[in-house]
Amino acid sequence: MKFDILTLFPNMFKEILSDSIIGRAEKKGILEFNFVNIRDFANNKHNSVDDYPYGGGCGMVIKAPPIYDAYLSIAKDLDYKPHTIYLSPKGSVLTQKKCVELSKKEHIVLLCGHYEGVDQRVLDKIVDEEISIGDYVLTGGELPAMVLIDSVSRMIDNVLSSETSFMDESHFDTLLEYPQYTRPPVFEGEKVPDILLSGDHKKIDEWRHEKSLEETKNKRPDLYKKYIKQQKEG
Ligand code: SAM
Repeated sequence: MKFDILTLFPNMFKEILSDSIIGRAEKKGILEFNFVNIRDFANNKHNSVDDYPYGGGCGMVIKAPPIYDAYLSIAKDLDYKPHTIYLSPKGSVLTQKKCVELSKKEHIVLLCGHYEGVDQRVLDKIVDEEISIGDYVLTGGELPAMVLIDSVSRMIDNVLSSETSFMDESHFDTLLEYPQYTRPPVFEGEKVPDILLSGDHKKIDEWRHEKSLEETKNKRPDLYKKYIKQQKEG
C-alpha cells in the first residue's frame, strides 16, 4: 500500500515510521511512504502557506492553493483518484473496523492540517473523508496520520509476523483481549493462572474467552453491551 502524506512537518514522521514493524514492512516493499511538503508549493518569496481567517478570529489558516498544488503533484498523472483523508477533530472517530476497511485500499493520501485548520474549499475539492483520532484537539495532523498509518498497516497481509493474529486482539470482534502472561511463572509471589500452563488448548481458549468478556464488562461496559446485542441478533 502506498501512503502519500501532505504535511508541513515531514521530519516528524521519519523516526517513527522507519522503526520496528512498520519500518520492516517498508523495507520489504509492503508499504511505501512519500512525504510531500506543502511549503514546497508556497509560491511566494516568504514561503508562507497560511493567512488570517476571513471574518476575523485568532490563529492562522492554511491556504487552499499550496495544498491543492501539493495534492496535484501526486494525483494529476494518475488514472484514478487516490482515497484522500483529512485528519481532523471534526471527522469520524477512527475504529478498528475503519482500519480494516482502509487496509484494503492500495493508495491513500493523508492531509495533515496545522494552526487553526485548512481553507474549507480545498477540503471540499480533494477530501473523501475526514478522520479524527479522538475527541480532543492536537496541534497538527501529523500524530493522527501516524496513528492511522500504524493501525491500518498492521491489518495488511504480511506486515505482522505470521504467529501474531490481530483477530484475537482488542476491538477486532468488539471485545477487549484477555490478560496476557509470560515468564517468569512467579512474579513477586503472583503465579501465572494454572490453566495457561496446562497445555489443554480447548480449556485455554474457553478461559481466554471468559476473561475477554470480564475485561470488556469491567473496562468498557459500552462495548460489552454492544457485543451482547450482536450475539442476540446473531
Ligand atoms: N480549529 C480546529 C477545530 O477547532 O476543529 C482545530 C485545528 S487543530 C489545532 C490543527 C490540525 O490538527 C487540524 O487541522 C487537524 O489536521 C489536526 N488535528 C487536531 N486534532 C485532531 C484529532 N483529534 N484528530 C485528527 N486530527 C486532528
